[in-house]
Amino acid sequence: MEEFDIVVIGAGYGGATVAALLAHKGKRVALVEKTALAGGKTQTIDRKGYKFEMFGAVGIPAHNSRFHELVDELGVADRVEFIIPEGEVASVRYKTPDGQWRTMHTALQQTGAPEEMDNLKRVFGVDDEGLAALGNLYMAVLTLKDEELETLDDVGMFEWMQQFDLPASLESQICMNLNTLFVVPVNRLAASEAIFTMKQQVLGGAGRYSVGGYGRVAEVCAEYVVECGGAYYPKTRVKRILVEDGRAVGIEIDTGELRAKAVISNAGIQPTVLKLAGQEHFPAEYVERVKQLEPSWSIAGFRYVLDKEIFDAALIPIFSDQSWLNDERFAGMEKGEWPDIPLIAIDVPSAFDPSLSPEPGHQIANCQVFCSADPESDMAEEAIRRGEAVIDELWPDLKNHIIRQEPYGAKQISGLSRDSVLPGCGGEAVGLAQVVGQVGKHKPDARTPLPGLYLVGCDAGGRGAGTHQAVDSGFNVAAMVDGDLK
Ligand SMILES: Cc1cc2nc3c(=O)[nH]c(=O)nc-3n(C[C@H](O)[C@H](O)[C@H](O)COP(=O)(O)OP(=O)(O)OC[C@H]3O[C@@H](n4cnc5c(N)ncnc54)[C@H](O)[C@@H]3O)c2cc1C
Repeated sequence: MEEFDIVVIGAGYGGATVAALLAHKGKRVALVEKTALAGGKTQTIDRKGYKFEMFGAVGIPAHNSRFHELVDELGVADRVEFIIPEGEVASVRYKTPDGQWRTMHTALQQTGAPEEMDNLKRVFGVDDEGLAALGNLYMAVLTLKDEELETLDDVGMFEWMQQFDLPASLESQICMNLNTLFVVPVNRLAASEAIFTMKQQVLGGAGRYSVGGYGRVAEVCAEYVVECGGAYYPKTRVKRILVEDGRAVGIEIDTGELRAKAVISNAGIQPTVLKLAGQEHFPAEYVERVKQLEPSWSIAGFRYVLDKEIFDAALIPIFSDQSWLNDERFAGMEKGEWPDIPLIAIDVPSAFDPSLSPEPGHQIANCQVFCSADPESDMAEEAIRRGEAVIDELWPDLKNHIIRQEPYGAKQISGLSRDSVLPGCGGEAVGLAQVVGQVGKHKPDARTPLPGLYLVGCDAGGRGAGTHQAVDSGFNVAAMVDGDLK
């Protein structure tokens, strides 16, 4: 049995951040991770010399992010080189209602320059009035005060957007972006979360990456814990949270027990409460609430290694007016009624960092299509089939240049993140869905009702998009636990 100040379960971005920050504050920390690498859903692996992103690879905001704050606070900025791609590194593919593909090459941070406006008119078929409506929406996003944002916790984003009377094509573009950021239905996406992140995206741009892979910062955090006198246990599954006299006192792993004054779990609120600790240690109404929580949707897709630069940009969203997703459209897809173009987001990490490929000119890409978070659902296969058909239509030469192709879906995502402990859950792409009723004051508290047990990551403690939310949670939970231990 070993004693620590704090045990952190899981080295995803939430867990890695909180562990490193608490180590930085002088605590003796054990960080325990079931997979071989830190980074959780955004870990970067090596296959035959090619560095692969397992899933996501796009940091938002790009500039002035919580990731920058983290490496500065830890004093490890010399070990992490952020890349923020410049120039026209996004290539939007929009299919018009009459079936024409239009392409818009654009930078990842908009400036409102006249050429950008002309591009929007050409691609989305809108006039000055349509652009003015879009301008009004962004003006509202940029000028809403924090206290006004709070009042929008209970308002769906799609409903909030209706006041601007956007043309259908621009509405599709905004909704597509929101689906991609949050992986939830736009009708129930909380307007407060959506506007907060859209503002960060406008002011800070999109597309932060780090040399060597998106998982790099998490790996550095794990190293840092050890350098501060703590311990890092990769390939070590936490079997159980130890509870004694109504308090979390440590964890059990294969080789024994690790004891601590506080246990912080990045394993997801449902697996933590219902499986690792056990529901008998929590009030009945809390357990009921945890069971009712709704996960974000999942993403299915395929990772490619190509022997040629097929994709013409680092980020490529592909959509039509039918592609963006609300509850009704998603329910249709679950019944087999898919849109003409499923919503697709292609990331090309090797366009951010060419050193990911050992061969110059080879491309590493990840094509993502939205689907159910249920690891048992067969929706992932259909999403992949339909996604491939669109890719084949747009890049017919691609199939002649595949060195490697790896499909994935909710089951694989669950394997690299949280266990499935309730029907329909486990493969969520983000974590807890950032929908009305689950954000702001309705979001689960990072401090659970079981003394000594805390949550970190995308289920509690932070806000923002994907990994940025997880790191934000890591900062907030580190301050909370440090304060409680004092
Ligand atoms: C396909 C896809 C694309 C995405 N694209 C992006 C993107 O471009 N940008 C972005 O910011 N976000 C993206 N996301 C979302 C983002 O990856 C997640 O929101 C974020 O990584 C979640 O971080 P987390 O800390 O909450 O948890 P996780 O990343 O889920 O980490 C949890 C960790 O806990 C570990 N763990 C769980 N149970 C145990 C146990 N019993 N014992 C030990 N360890 C355990 C897991 O192995 C894992 O390492 C994407 C997600 C997917 C699936």
